[in-house]
Amino acid sequence: MPLSKPMSDEDELGMIHVYTGDGKGKTTASLGLGLRSAGHGYRVLMIQFMKGQINYGELEAVKNLPNFEIVQFGRAEFVDKDNPADVDVKLARDGLEHARKAMRERKYDVLILDEINVAVEWNLISVKEVLDLLETKPDHMEMVLTGRHAPQSFIDLADTVTEMKEVKHPFTKGVLARKGIEH
Ligand code: ATP
Ligand code: MG
Repeated sequence: MPLSKPMSDEDELGMIHVYTGDGKGKTTASLGLGLRSAGHGYRVLMIQFMKGQINYGELEAVKNLPNFEIVQFGRAEFVDKDNPADVDVKLARDGLEHARKAMRERKYDVLILDEINVAVEWNLISVKEVLDLLETKPDHMEMVLTGRHAPQSFIDLADTVTEMKEVKHPFTKGVLARKGIEH
């Protein structure tokens, strides 16, 4: 049971968050925010750019939450930063189109664009396309943009900006991604 019904006069959603930086915690912070929102009955959509792996725990976990959806627009393979494949560009564009549609349809209260900062940095989509999208954000929709190296224009536009700073990461001592922690 949701803790409270969404879309009352008291609703205060409508802000934009950016989670960036080189330390661990951007995607998981946005999942935490989504979880919290979903608990209040808000409808949450996370669009994952550049991710096509099915082994992320969050994909399974949200199946148990009626109002939290995750869709992936990426391949399991890594994108070649200097020479991205056409399919990588197409998938990122499809992800952006999915976000536009979600906004038009007013079906969600919280929209998380996971790794969109990286999709922009790697030239799969442009800064302008994302800014144009943010321009059309419904007033009461909360948005989160995650990924390293957020463009300055996203930071300027956002209300909450958090930079995860790497102080330590087990990767640097050779520990590979662990189930339940990194994926
Ligand atoms: P998480 O998904 O764990 O919240 P993140 O979204 O902050 O991490 P990304 O920059 O999206 O991290 O990195 C993708 C993958 O690399 C994740 O598996 C993440 O745990 C891992 N990772 C995060 N920070 C580092 C780091 N400083 N060095 C190596 N790997 C990292
Ligand atoms: Mg991430």
